[in-house]
Amino acid sequence: MIRFENVDKWFGPMQALTGVSGEVGRGEVKVLVGPSGSGKSTLIRTVTRLETIQGGRVLVDGTDIASRGVDINRLRQRVGFVFQAYNLFPHLSAIGNITLGLTKLRGMGKAEARERGLAELARVGLAEKAEEMPGRLSGGQRQRVAIARSLAMDPQVMLFDEPTSALDPEMVGEVLAAMKQLAASGMTMICVTHEMGFAREVADEIWFMEGGAVLERGKPAELTSTFAHSRLQAFLASTS
Ligand code: ATP
Ligand code: MG
Repeated sequence: MIRFENVDKWFGPMQALTGVSGEVGRGEVKVLVGPSGSGKSTLIRTVTRLETIQGGRVLVDGTDIASRGVDINRLRQRVGFVFQAYNLFPHLSAIGNITLGLTKLRGMGKAEARERGLAELARVGLAEKAEEMPGRLSGGQRQRVAIARSLAMDPQVMLFDEPTSALDPEMVGEVLAAMKQLAASGMTMICVTHEMGFAREVADEIWFMEGGAVLERGKPAELTSTFAHSRLQAFLASTS
């Protein structure tokens, strides 16, 4: 589904990604963890070419996304992206945020878009908030609307970049619950998060990044064995 092959990324003289390789199969959930500045955001941003790369390749469904003839806008419609915050257009209601892409990018009729949007809002438990403006929603509700908006576009893969790290603690659970449900439904996902409980429960594999490279990777169950004396353990100890 997604394949990183020896990806190098430089910001001027600074190398942000160093020969990153890895694969995310259809229906798999990979969780990226690692210290600040280790390249987690940069790596997932390469998937939609929000970051161009200087070496290696990123393939989505077998196609090198940098190759000629790739319609980048079409690709971005197929890859849902939920960031830390500021995902929603503040001047549009929850449902308005969701239908915008469907009508403008997909050419869907208003009634059909609304129906689709309401179904996605229901899926994240927010059916009754459809007409609410983002400013009147809690942070957790806003993130769930952002997830619903991505899902309405029928993505093949969902990327999450610390979607709960800007939230008050009491709202983290509801967003993680929506993500868990999504994972259970078979969605292909790459999640950057510090929520190790979520990672243990949902990840097929955890990738530990440091200094622009994936230093270690393994199944959550291996966290206490393979990773027992690892950099990841030290990192986890330092964050808990
Ligand atoms: P965090 O946990 O703080 O979000 P991260 O693992 O997501 O960190 P990145 O944001 O991917 O880290 O950054 C990797 C490196 O690239 C860092 O050293 C960062 O300073 C640098 N970097 C990221 N974006 C840019 C940019 N637009 N211009 C220059 N350097 C950048
Ligand atoms: Mg980041």
